[in-house]
Amino acid sequence: MGKTLYEKVFDRHVVRQLPSGQYQLFMGLHLIHEVTSPQAFSMLEERNLTVLYPERTFATVDHIIPTTTQLRPFADNLAEQMMVALEDNTKRHKIRFFTPDKAEQGIVHVVGPERGLTQPGMTICCGDSHTATHGAFGALAFGIGTSQVRDVLATQTLAMDKLKVRRIEVNGKLRPGVYAKDVTLFIIQKLGVKGGVGYAYEYAGEVFDAMSMEERMTVCNMAIEGGARCGYVQPDETTFAYLKGRNASPTGAAWERAVVDWKTLRSDADAVYDDVVKFDAADIEPVVTWGITPSQSTSIGSTVPSLAEFPDDERATVEEAYNYMSFAPGQKIAGIKVDVAFIGSCTNGRLSDIAEVASLLKGKGLKVKEGVRAMVVPGSHAVKQEAIALGYDKIITEAGFEFREPGCSMCLAMNPDKLKGRELSASSSNRNFKGRQGSSSGRTLLMSPAMVAAAAIRGEVADAREVFGVGARS
Ligand code: SF4
Repeated sequence: MGKTLYEKVFDRHVVRQLPSGQYQLFMGLHLIHEVTSPQAFSMLEERNLTVLYPERTFATVDHIIPTTTQLRPFADNLAEQMMVALEDNTKRHKIRFFTPDKAEQGIVHVVGPERGLTQPGMTICCGDSHTATHGAFGALAFGIGTSQVRDVLATQTLAMDKLKVRRIEVNGKLRPGVYAKDVTLFIIQKLGVKGGVGYAYEYAGEVFDAMSMEERMTVCNMAIEGGARCGYVQPDETTFAYLKGRNASPTGAAWERAVVDWKTLRSDADAVYDDVVKFDAADIEPVVTWGITPSQSTSIGSTVPSLAEFPDDERATVEEAYNYMSFAPGQKIAGIKVDVAFIGSCTNGRLSDIAEVASLLKGKGLKVKEGVRAMVVPGSHAVKQEAIALGYDKIITEAGFEFREPGCSMCLAMNPDKLKGRELSASSSNRNFKGRQGSSSGRTLLMSPAMVAAAAIRGEVADAREVFGVGARS
């Protein structure tokens, strides 16, 4: 019987089965940042332990960093203290730290792939929920908690259950103006936020085959929002082309050997799945969330759904969402006024996201609607520099968006980029939970960067295809 990619990579990394029935799994790569690592380092030092594999551990600062200026000391004293702690810990344990002053810093799930650290067949972990992003390369990538960060620092291993595997096939061709973000939101809408619990998601089929690596990262990034422990796309020529020549990619004969090995990391034709779900690309329209979970979404031409459309066990959350968002069932999603437009995050803060927005705005003389606060926050310094080199920053700022320094920014608003009061944000990030963007009563609508740009221009939720007059999938 054949194996899935999940089983192949899992089996390669098993150290032993534990008496609990779990498996001790070796982690090929450990990414750390300033929020979930300080306590883990303290716990390590309390026990006189050191970092076992500093050469497999890489750090960046992303959540707390201001995006107006990265000059030190940061205005927020707590942010400065967290930065100093990360500097001290990485120095003491000889861990490579991608710092802002060397223009290497960025969001952890943007920096890892762009430096070539994320490679097919790896096991990867990070004290951050959206580590699933790295599955785009055919890696098994897990978000972990602080005590697990400690465990990985000390042992480079994690105790893990074996997951079931669900193959999610999307076949056909996406309509113009429908993006990877719409695909991943559509899947979550159909399978629910708990649908993936206990599963690894294998994204397969013509739509994922045709996607760029950055689009695949957008999809895998949100596997966790569908409840899956991780999500992956099988490596192919697109993966190898992306990785070739990156800082940490193998070179020369080692590259040739790596590609031969990576080509074996595909699910076998006779692999058996615990579940298979199939969707037709033609059924996917631009998606916008209307509620307080990423599954509470609808297509742009549609309305906030009625209570009757949900099963009994979801109705309490749906009513909570109507109340919190101040939306009524039957209300059209298009035309809802927005106060803030945020393009960024580890879901959609990459160069191709900024390129798409710039290409939609270019030469049209469109301006951000008066009263809307609109910002584009690159996922990393590398993204920012490339965007500037290609002139995207000019197009974006001429249209009235701010073009900021890299960081997580308003995705989680642990830095000064926050919603105020009941403000409503059109956001390219990944979570629309209550209070997620920095105000305890603030509201978030998740959508693709193109749709955020359209909302910024119109001052309300709008169909990007109509606003920009194109069928914009480049
Ligand atoms: S961009 Fe958002 S989801 Fe991604 S790592 Fe930062 S806070 Fe987490």
